[in-house]
Amino acid sequence: MAEHDLMEKLVSLAKRRGYVFQSSEIYGGTGSVWDYGPLGVELKRNVKEAWWRTMVHERDDIEGLDAAILMHPRVWEASGHVANFTDPLVECKNCHRRYRVDILLAETGAAELDAARCLACGKTGTWTEPRQFNLMFKTFIGPVEEESSVVYLRPETAQGIYVNFLNVQTTARQRVPFGIAQIGKAFRNEITPGNFTFRTREFEQMEMQFFVEPGSDAEWFERWRESRLNWMRDVVGLASNRLRYHPHEKLAHYASAAGDIEFFFGGTIGDEGWGEIEGIHNRTDFDLGRHQEYSGKRLEYIDPGTQKRYLPYIIETSAGADRVTLAVLADAYREEEVEGETRVVLGIKPSLAPLKVGVFPLVKKDGMPERATAIHEELRRQGIPSFYDEAGAIGRRYRRQDEAGTPFGITIDGETTEKGTVTVRDRDTMQQERIAEDRIVEYVRERVK
Ligand SMILES: [Zn+2]
Repeated sequence: MAEHDLMEKLVSLAKRRGYVFQSSEIYGGTGSVWDYGPLGVELKRNVKEAWWRTMVHERDDIEGLDAAILMHPRVWEASGHVANFTDPLVECKNCHRRYRVDILLAETGAAELDAARCLACGKTGTWTEPRQFNLMFKTFIGPVEEESSVVYLRPETAQGIYVNFLNVQTTARQRVPFGIAQIGKAFRNEITPGNFTFRTREFEQMEMQFFVEPGSDAEWFERWRESRLNWMRDVVGLASNRLRYHPHEKLAHYASAAGDIEFFFGGTIGDEGWGEIEGIHNRTDFDLGRHQEYSGKRLEYIDPGTQKRYLPYIIETSAGADRVTLAVLADAYREEEVEGETRVVLGIKPSLAPLKVGVFPLVKKDGMPERATAIHEELRRQGIPSFYDEAGAIGRRYRRQDEAGTPFGITIDGETTEKGTVTVRDRDTMQQERIAEDRIVEYVRERVK
């Protein structure tokens, strides 16, 4: 399958199986906004829960947070978003990085835009027309639309963490080094969105900001870089040959090291098919320093042992929940020839699959539907997402679940009523084995861990 077909096929499968729908589709759709359907919402929740488990529940040194989307407007002055997001911008047509024109010219030493080289991908002169553009969505608090009541929909979740640094540190009695993790929506009025759910105007981030003592930041950056790359491979299950770490060639003014974990989507995404799914940044003490300056509040940390007082450095890991979800779908999609027919399979890792089990009575008689329904209900009671299907030939029912990414199919047949056994079909190998009916829950639990 040619790579450029993949995204088209995914869009079509995602709609057919209820993963992703275009937003407000009956009105013709909203540009680059998408809705997650019954299976999509489960997959994305599973991605986010896996992240939360790894980052928060399994660690003593990271606390969770859920900060509001609306924040004090001064936050975005301190963060640099008001200034950086409203100047004339150009975007690299190749890799979609955006730059302020003046900064781009200064940093590349180019006399004019046509001669400027993209700092991220290295292409020269592939720029959109410069445009005055505010990437932040603006709205108003209260009934009067006036300048003093302007607020923004946050363009990143990170700032909610920075402004709560001392609240979390003191109430959770954490000592540096420690981190704060948050999952939440962010909004950007992108100039050139597109590529399905890869670049959207409303998206969800999974961000963790790790506060460290200056001087230990380089080491922590390395640790997080490695650990996040491993997570994508081991927990999310993305193929290692489609994952890479790509250091930024040129750094933002506040960063001392930065790079992206990229996944190979193919097609027109990112740099020749490689698209960012998570950024790892050493942000130094820029953010806390700016908030200290703009708020007038001291944000220093005092080491309880040495009484040393300092602004911690921040190592940020910032993953896109939508992008990781899309990577899971892209990695899982495959077509196979089976007995002269094309079988479409979503080989999603069982722990992330929206449905774990399809339950099928072989025929709609001889007490099989009743027996199958009882099994299906027991699975649900045990917290195992299950789908009951008695419609059509058994082969077609298997295929529907293959496309939906359901890892196991349980079929109730004549032997079930006689001997109390069922067949379990494996989505990937299509092999079947017989197990005792009373072992189903234990079997599925073991396999979807
Ligand atoms: Zn570029």
